[in-house]
Amino acid sequence: MKQELIFLGPPACGKGTQTNKLSEYLGFPHVDTGSLLRAEIASGTKEGAIAKSFIDKGQLVPVELVGEIIGKKLATDDCKNGYVLDGYPRSLEQAKMLEIINNKIDGKNTASFKAIYFDIDTNILIERIIHRQSCPKCGEIYNKKFKPPKVDNICDICSVELKTRADDNEEIAKARFETYYRETAPLVEFYEKKGVLYKIDANGTIDEVWERLLKVIEG
Ligand code: AMP
Repeated sequence: MKQELIFLGPPACGKGTQTNKLSEYLGFPHVDTGSLLRAEIASGTKEGAIAKSFIDKGQLVPVELVGEIIGKKLATDDCKNGYVLDGYPRSLEQAKMLEIINNKIDGKNTASFKAIYFDIDTNILIERIIHRQSCPKCGEIYNKKFKPPKVDNICDICSVELKTRADDNEEIAKARFETYYRETAPLVEFYEKKGVLYKIDANGTIDEVWERLLKVIEG
């Protein structure tokens, strides 16, 4: 049965690291709206220019723009057996849009839908964001303080120079948290009421969280 997996949690809760790993493990595409939007910006598209004006303020990009990108991506053949959706939906309006997108794509076919919430102590997260780096080639995520690469600023896997995201600074990070609590946190209750919410303790090491995640996925 097709497996539709979505992930909820505050910025820098570890979703990116775990969903990258999970997509490889399950063989489903890792669909990450933040990366898709950053790719639009890097390609210089009109959509990218609009997205940038919101990302730079730590706000949500307009629902229609993200919906269009996600709708197209989820309808591709790559996603026919399942997907790992990271960073979408981020508001009730987007959650309702995702239901419409899924219904359109799945038709009468049944799919298993799980919303996995990363429950974490938020005190450490701003610090995680400020020290975060990632590989522009393979997407591997590092942290100068908590998970440094073997050689400073160089990806262990690809040997290319690591990048820091433009919105990973303290001022924008604070705005991203405000946006998260206002727009995204209500989704936990939304999916709980539907009986599809799976909460995991996201405190601890990458391996510890991975073990907990696998129990939810395979359980
Ligand atoms: P992320 O890489 O998930 O931390 O997202 C970075 C930024 O991209 C967010 O702060 C938003 O401005 C924008 N963004 C990512 N996903 C969405 C979404 N589902 N809806 C609206 N904006 C988004």
